[in-house]
This record gives sequence, C-alpha cells and structure tokens, in this order.
Amino acid sequence: MDIANLRIDANRLRADFDALTEIGATVAGGVSRLALSNEDLEARAWFANRLDDAGLAVRDDDVGNISGVLVMNGSATDRSVLLGAHLDTALNAGRYDGSVGILAALECLRTIHEAGIHLPVNLEVINFTDQEGSWQSMLGSRGLTGRLPDFTMRDGDDQSAFRAALFRAGIFLNDMHRAARQPSDVAGYLELHIEQGGRLWASGKRIGIVDGIVGRTTYSITFHGEAGHSGTTAPEQRHDALQGAAQFIIEAHRWVRESIPDGIFNAGNLVTEPGAFNTIPEKAVLTVEVRNPDQSALLVMEDQMLVLAASCAERYGLRMTSRRLVNMPAAKMDAPVRADIEAACADIGISETTHIVSYAGHDAQMLSGFTPAGLIFIPS
Ligand SMILES: [Zn+2]
Repeated sequence: MDIANLRIDANRLRADFDALTEIGATVAGGVSRLALSNEDLEARAWFANRLDDAGLAVRDDDVGNISGVLVMNGSATDRSVLLGAHLDTALNAGRYDGSVGILAALECLRTIHEAGIHLPVNLEVINFTDQEGSWQSMLGSRGLTGRLPDFTMRDGDDQSAFRAALFRAGIFLNDMHRAARQPSDVAGYLELHIEQGGRLWASGKRIGIVDGIVGRTTYSITFHGEAGHSGTTAPEQRHDALQGAAQFIIEAHRWVRESIPDGIFNAGNLVTEPGAFNTIPEKAVLTVEVRNPDQSALLVMEDQMLVLAASCAERYGLRMTSRRLVNMPAAKMDAPVRADIEAACADIGISETTHIVSYAGHDAQMLSGFTPAGLIFIPS
C-alpha cells in the first residue's frame, strides 16, 4: 500500500466531531468541558469507547491520560509514536480546541489500521489530562514526561477539592508521578491543533509548521502604599499604591511594544485595598504575564519587568514585592520533524504551508526535550 494514496474517512471524522461537540455543548455554540468535570469524564468515556470500536488497545496511566494504541508487533507498552491533544476545554471554549487533534489522530490510526500498514513502532493517540489548567496546566503531559516531581499547588488552590476531583476520575495525587515514561519508550510526538490566532487565516495558508512554542511566566506584583483620607491627606504624604501600579502597566506595555519585538506583556487582573473610592489605595496587587518564544529573551524580559516595577514604585514612594507563580519554558520543535511535516505536505500536494510560532501553550511544549516533537497548526 502506497502511504501517499491513503485517505481518511472524512464522514467518519465529522460524525465523531459532531458527537464529541454535544458533550458539554453551550447554548452559544461552544463547549465547556473543564478538566475532571462531569463533561470531561463523559468525553473520556466516549473516547475510550471509540478507541475500543477502532480495535485499538486502550491504555490508562496514573495521571489519567487515556490512549489508544495501534499495536504493531508485541504489546501496547512497546515503543510508540504519540499523537496527542486534549479533550478538556476552558470555559465556553471553541469546539475545535484540542478535540480536532484527538479526532484527527484517531482517524489516522483507524485508516492505517484498516490499510494493514505495518510500522516498526506502535502508534498511540493520547488524551492528556487537564491541558487547559482548570486545576494544573498540562498535568497529563507533565506526568508522562516525568515532570511531576516539581509539582506544586498554585497559591489559593484548594488541595482537598483537587484531590476530590482527581479521586472521582480514579486518579490519586500521590500516585501521579508513576505515569512517567522513559524517553526510550517514546519514538516521537506529533500534535495537530488550531492556531488560535488569525495569522494562518489572514495569510491564506492551510498548514502552519510550528517552529517553537512561546515561554510564559506569570507574576504576582504588589505595590504597597499607605491608606489615607482622600481629601485631607497632603500631596507630599500620599503613597498611592494604585498610581504606581497604573504607571507600571502603561510603561510595561510601551516598553515591550517598542523594545521587545517578539515579546508579549499582559496585565489582566488588578485588586486594590481597601478598595474605597474615598480612600487612598494602600495596596495594588497585579497578576501579569510575559511571553517570548526565546527562552533567554524571556528571562531578560522578566528581570527588566521587575526593575521597571520597582522604579515605578519608587516614584510614588511605594514598596514593591513580587512572586513568580507559573513558569512554562519556551520550547523549540524538533527540526527533522518539522522537515518531515513539510515533506508530507508536499507529497499530498499542499503547497500553502508556512512556518509559525505558537503564542499559546500546548502539550507539545512538555514533550519537546523528552522526545522529537512536532506541532501542526490548521487555521482557526
Ligand atoms: Zn488546546
């Protein structure tokens, strides 16, 4: 069988997509399947049945990843190429996010299985637990790649609620590290995902070959001032935390726009205390993030951002403290895998391809560095 002539069954893929979209469907036409929710558990059960129907070996691990293995020679635990994505979604998410990657991989495995093609390694479609981070960002892919030793609860997270949610899904917090596989057990990783941006669509390209995935760091930054009567406090005695925070937000945006061409800064959350219109703000707590596709540039951005925050605080007679909350390092996709994607596109006559950087996080980020990993974007 000539692999270049293989064709998937588009109707079967569409039927699966329509069925999956019903699970957690919202009235607005989107979908809500938060990780470990009833809807997520229902989607997992549905997926396991589809794997079974397709004649794949169903495999679970200790962090709740579910996969279907097309066994080539020996057993389902032999070395395999992983084809992954996620069934969980953010709140009111689009229908394609994650699910299209899972279903495309499943359809590929069915097609290869039916054609009786033999390969030297197993093929495995895998659903990673909590990619979106309803509880813990990329929990499943971190578990599989042995990155759970650095597992920590996020600030303010309720560990008992997390444990209960895991328990319902048959996952035990203290056992999750057992999901780790050896790099020698994985031959490679490939993921198909919508771009979640407008660049492919605008450029008229059908396939984006992802060169790298942006690194992302989140900080909590607090400006500490002094509360006082809004009317009676003399100008030189005012230590207004919110003014320092506001100054910082404006200057950080300008600095990144003008000086860091590939960088992103976002301040999306601000809480003031005491939070009264007639009291000088004593505290302004910001949650901010910086993104950059280059890991060393990301580290420089982090440092400079904190220097800027400190200088804005000083200008208003404030004190500044900061705490790093989340750090997802930037990842490069494997060069030979990228070349293979390009060659495969050429083989089937798709010339509208382009190289692209992902400004959103994906499980491929965790798999890179562990195994040769690639990420294929289709237009949103
Ligand atoms: Zn996604």
